[in-house]
Amino acid sequence: MSYAGFAEIVLALPLNKKFHYSIPQSCSNQIEVGKRVKVPFRGRTIIGYCVGLTDVSDIEKTKEIIQVIDAKPIFTPQLLAISKWMANFYFCGWGEALESFLPFAVRSSFHEKTVSVIRLSKDEAFIKDILATLKKRAPRQASALEVLLREEEMTVRELTRASGCNLQSIYRLRDRELVSLRQRPADSDPVSGGGKREKKTDQLNPTKEQEDAILLIKKRLREGKYRTVLLRGVTGSGKTEVYLQAIAETIALGRKVIVLVPEISLTPQTIERFKLRFDKIAVLHSSLTEKQRNNEWWGIKNGNADIVIGARSALFAPLDNLGLIVIDEEHENTFKQDSSPRYNARDLSLVRAKYENAVVVLGSATPSLESYHNAGLGRYDYVVLKSRIGDKPLPGVQLVDMRHEIQRGKKHSSISKYLELSMKRSLSQKGQVILFLNRRGFSSFISCRRCGFVLTCKKCDISLTYHKSQNAVMCHYCYHKASVPTECPECKCPKINFFGSGTERVEEEIKARFPSYKLLRMDSDTMRGHEAHEKAFSAFKRGDIDILLGTQMIAKGLDIPNVTLVGVLSADTIINLPDFRASERTFQLLCQVAGRTGRGSREGKVIIQTYNPEHYSIIFAASHDYVGFAKKELEYRKQLYYPPYGRMARIVLRGKREEDVKARSLDLAEKLKDTSRLYRKTVEILGPSPAPVTKVKDNYRWHIVVKANTIEYLQQVLQSIKEEPRGSNKVQTVIDVDAYMML
Ligand code: ADP
Ligand code: ZN
Repeated sequence: MSYAGFAEIVLALPLNKKFHYSIPQSCSNQIEVGKRVKVPFRGRTIIGYCVGLTDVSDIEKTKEIIQVIDAKPIFTPQLLAISKWMANFYFCGWGEALESFLPFAVRSSFHEKTVSVIRLSKDEAFIKDILATLKKRAPRQASALEVLLREEEMTVRELTRASGCNLQSIYRLRDRELVSLRQRPADSDPVSGGGKREKKTDQLNPTKEQEDAILLIKKRLREGKYRTVLLRGVTGSGKTEVYLQAIAETIALGRKVIVLVPEISLTPQTIERFKLRFDKIAVLHSSLTEKQRNNEWWGIKNGNADIVIGARSALFAPLDNLGLIVIDEEHENTFKQDSSPRYNARDLSLVRAKYENAVVVLGSATPSLESYHNAGLGRYDYVVLKSRIGDKPLPGVQLVDMRHEIQRGKKHSSISKYLELSMKRSLSQKGQVILFLNRRGFSSFISCRRCGFVLTCKKCDISLTYHKSQNAVMCHYCYHKASVPTECPECKCPKINFFGSGTERVEEEIKARFPSYKLLRMDSDTMRGHEAHEKAFSAFKRGDIDILLGTQMIAKGLDIPNVTLVGVLSADTIINLPDFRASERTFQLLCQVAGRTGRGSREGKVIIQTYNPEHYSIIFAASHDYVGFAKKELEYRKQLYYPPYGRMARIVLRGKREEDVKARSLDLAEKLKDTSRLYRKTVEILGPSPAPVTKVKDNYRWHIVVKANTIEYLQQVLQSIKEEPRGSNKVQTVIDVDAYMML
């Protein structure tokens, strides 16, 4: 016998579709929107999520739900709404989106574990009164009470250990109504916070700039409506103090907070600053064990956390009454997930905040152009912290023109004479040095060693990529191909060549030049896991290491007063990435790197080596001029309708055989082009072309870039391939809306 009604179930599959299941009598009292269920699907039993209940179904024969898993809904109505939004916007499955909200451990262990906890049910005076008599008659019960007088609540196991009583005595105490027992989720206090803690630090007395920012955010918080505030503050300007005071206000208003940081800045240093100010903090680290993550999640779900700090997926933390979302370093591309669902936590935080009537604070020294543009249009509030705390100057930045180094005719070296001398000076004065080296890999652009000219695509304004096997250059957006010129089109010099940075060599080279100093290389090869990272940082902090050589990962978060020199070995490898955001990335990275020095009492200095000393990214970064940079970059973006003036999506296809991948790419591009004709010139389909990274793990990669003047047009054109199969055994297809990685 079935209950008259159907449950609308979504499944963790790349299908944006609701399935109707009938509700058996046995489940009719339990089924609720937001709960997980077990359902039969294609001959298997799988987990689904109930997103609606309905009385009618046009399906002739519906299958029955097997079991309702959760006692209480696991998703709030807001989270359900967000998942639906994600499925439509990012072209993923609705159930897939919901599944990504749950940490793996929570997904797989259906129920939360519980423990029995015990506490006194009479007041202290009463207990003390009867203790004297009890001590003689039942000494074990008495000692249990004595322990409980000191602790508010403990687990039964803790009590038996601490007092030496047994379960029997505990039950007697309960029967006499001296104590009460209840079930509490096991280990559900957030592992990282909670409990009785040391004295908290006081709020700092804000500077005038900080105060203006804090007052504005507080005002927005009190209005209790959705609003986004963009907080731009140079490195060391005290953004974190602004966050902390905004958080204090939110908690005072009885609401909760999510703080998102790039994974790399989830350092104990950062977390400590929050813990020293607040209790009830849950931290969602990538280094937590599954068990800890499970506990942390249930702790949050049960209301034990006021603040959740974590990387992008912490945006889905199951908090009720969310009042504030802080996104630190909002420009970072780690907020964008590069597997399905391909959401950007920064953008999605606005969606969540709208559903929750919450305030979003986006903080950065170098905001993304998207955010800056939105602030300019008045969609966001905008506040600026112009100066560093204590009016410490931003470090002086000097450019070294590497074209001159080459012209001196010596063998190519990654360190200029000037940088070498500066290093010697810093090191001899007991200062530490950071050398910043770019990620290995993508550096095959063509540039002139004399004038620095770089071959770019006229239509797409991105660097052409050199392909050795064909001795040709190619635009990886529009597939324009050309042969390699024999001389520089600009200065007619024959020294035009492809640029390989050969970064492996650099370490050897520096070691050879500075044999008496300790050098450490930090990159994704040498640093695996959180601990390696932490160890290296603390060794550097202690001064055990003189020169730190590393990739992007050292550009962030490091706060070491003794760093007096930062060198950027080659600014060019990012500028010339075949990606329309290459200039923005360069600027952001250089600013961030520069922010690593001059933080202590000693003055800091930054040296940037480049073949493009006239490039605006470098010039503006050297003068710490964000607004100058943003203006210029926005002009360029506007001309070609790149974001924020238009929106882009990227469709990536991969497979074992290049012919298959290519054929499928052509096919999809054709469909897209057909649809885009309806939109005249407002939608452009670029490609298909081989992706800049042409092969990954034996799979050939092609991509199609879709560019539209508005997000609506982009979405409508993508709809035309929505129903296309995403995976066959030959070619997999991925739709990436607002793609960040164009490689
Ligand atoms: P940002 O996050 O903008 O890089 P921080 O928040 O790390 O800057 O602040 C830099 C330093 O200044 C920190 O050591 C912080 O404790 C200190 N600081 C911040 N605000 C104040 C203030 N109002 N008074 C004194 N020191 C402050
Ligand atoms: Zn092109």
